[in-house]
Amino acid sequence: MKIGCPKEIKPQEFRVGLTPHAAREAVQHGHRVVMETDAGLGAGFTDEDYTAAGADIAASAAEVFATADMIVKVKEPQPAERALLRAGQVLFTYLHLAPDPEQTHDLLAAGVTAIAYETVTDARGGLPLLAPMSEVAGRLAPQMGAWTLQKANGGRGVLMGGVPGVRPANVVIIGGGVVGTAAARVAVGMGANVTVLDRSVPRLSYLDDIFQGRLTTQYSSAAAIAELLPEADMVIGAVLIPGAAAPKLVTRAQLALMRPGAAIVDVAIDQGGCFETSHPTTHQDPIYTVDGILHYCVANMPGAVARTSTQALGNATMPFLLALADKGWRRACAEDPHLLAGLNTHAGRLTYAAVGAALNLPV
Ligand code: NAD
Repeated sequence: MKIGCPKEIKPQEFRVGLTPHAAREAVQHGHRVVMETDAGLGAGFTDEDYTAAGADIAASAAEVFATADMIVKVKEPQPAERALLRAGQVLFTYLHLAPDPEQTHDLLAAGVTAIAYETVTDARGGLPLLAPMSEVAGRLAPQMGAWTLQKANGGRGVLMGGVPGVRPANVVIIGGGVVGTAAARVAVGMGANVTVLDRSVPRLSYLDDIFQGRLTTQYSSAAAIAELLPEADMVIGAVLIPGAAAPKLVTRAQLALMRPGAAIVDVAIDQGGCFETSHPTTHQDPIYTVDGILHYCVANMPGAVARTSTQALGNATMPFLLALADKGWRRACAEDPHLLAGLNTHAGRLTYAAVGAALNLPV
């Protein structure tokens, strides 16, 4: 099979769909890999890295799309890319079709077989191609929050770990899933005093177990959050209610309970955010202040560490990519219900119920 990987064209997207390691693996499985020139540069991979892995380099995206049997990307295809898709081609990437009728229409019109990273499942009920990005965003959250807390950014001027004789920062993490756990790991590692709230008692037990007393767990309720806000230097929002917008767990009025210059890092901003005062920001202009409280609300946090994110995503997509290439999408999906869960469109038909329901289209 010929696998094509174009350069991402969505603004501020520096990741790439295939790492040189993944390209080499595909070549070793007997496939041809075609990379658009400079596709990997944003993640620190040169054309030479790909040619050394056995890939060919194409001069343009049009060349990649024209001949590849399967297109591997990171972000949903942009309008210019959608115009290049062909019937029968397999598209393997993040799609997020439910809020995007234009893209859905174009994929159906193109007749592609589109497999969405975000709906591929695993045996434990998780989303294995979303989890690596949650892991990245979670680990990044205390790092960005620590920077936000610095005086030059308008923060309280508090050092995460304190120093001998001076108390560390108090970090409150709302939501103890993949993001929250990763955030807790880094915040604890930086020496902060960490409290994690979740609605799931089994999840709190798990956190209690793995952190061995190095953080505090608390059942999440409006009252518990209100009690913690006055002492918090940093509050990280990491909740998820599958298929729904994030619940607003801190109101604007409650900002008055917090210390001036305290930092909010709302990782759940891609689902609308869990603070009433959150709105999406960009890596160029990541922070704004409401009522003296700093807000960091970048919707695409993994983009800040494009190389790590590309590698983490590549590790997770590789087994599925190889199955699709080795067996063809039909047999690969027939043999793996978790990959089949990723199938969103085929030959002009929508094949994913939740997208159909969201867009009022037949499935
Ligand atoms: P997850 O499902 O692993 O964890 C979510 C947790 O929230 C669960 O443990 C759940 O019990 C808990 N929860 C639900 N309601 C709660 C409440 N009221 N109080 C406390 N906890 C509650 O999800 P995740 O992968 O950790 O993702 C968390 C959020 O981060 C999602 O909104 C996701 O889209 C977002 N995210 C954002 C970025 C970014 O760049 N901004 C990157 C990755 C993920």
